[in-house]
Amino acid sequence: MSCSFELEHYREILEAARAGGYRFAYFGNDPKRSDLFLRHDVDLSLEAALVMAEVEAELEAQATYLLMTESVFYNLASPQGASAIARLRALGHAVGLHAVHPNVDLDERFDPVVSWHNPRPEYMSAEIPGGINAYGERYFSPETYRSDSNQNWRAGCPHEELRAGAFPWLQILVHPAIWVYPGTTMGETMRAMVEADKARRLAQLAEDGIDLD
Ligand SMILES: [Zn+2]
Ligand SMILES: [Zn+2]
Repeated sequence: MSCSFELEHYREILEAARAGGYRFAYFGNDPKRSDLFLRHDVDLSLEAALVMAEVEAELEAQATYLLMTESVFYNLASPQGASAIARLRALGHAVGLHAVHPNVDLDERFDPVVSWHNPRPEYMSAEIPGGINAYGERYFSPETYRSDSNQNWRAGCPHEELRAGAFPWLQILVHPAIWVYPGTTMGETMRAMVEADKARRLAQLAEDGIDLD
């Protein structure tokens, strides 16, 4: 099995978790044995989040999608943003806020779950009034946390340990865009995302009545 950042391997990771006896958990309760908190910080692309969400639904996996209201890459207040939230919920996923410190505006679109975007250590794990911090101490410790940041599992891809049931429980942070767009390096993957976005932007311009001739 090659640990590539492709949806095919993402499916294998989820299947390994199932084989290892893990169950998909939502943030809110204290972690119990065999809980798997599947967390997605959506930094770049709602389209990629939706593709990943469909794959998870097929495999009967539930995740928590943390979406930004202050992203430079997408607009959650647009019709596309609203329909992305509706689709994520229809597929059985939780939807929380990926917040830019110190702004935590948990309006009715969100479950009370927060993760910080690019956090600094001083506030990363601190309590958040009115919200559950996914980086809070009860969910976040090195032995029970894995992240795919920049296509680099610093502590290794978790598929083998999941299959073996080696984690008591686990929070896994997966960024959808780096799995959905093709590329063997982060640079290639990001360029593929930008190319895909170009076609989408042109379609949006045409829809908006802009003359593209
Ligand atoms: Zn792997
Ligand atoms: Zn982020």
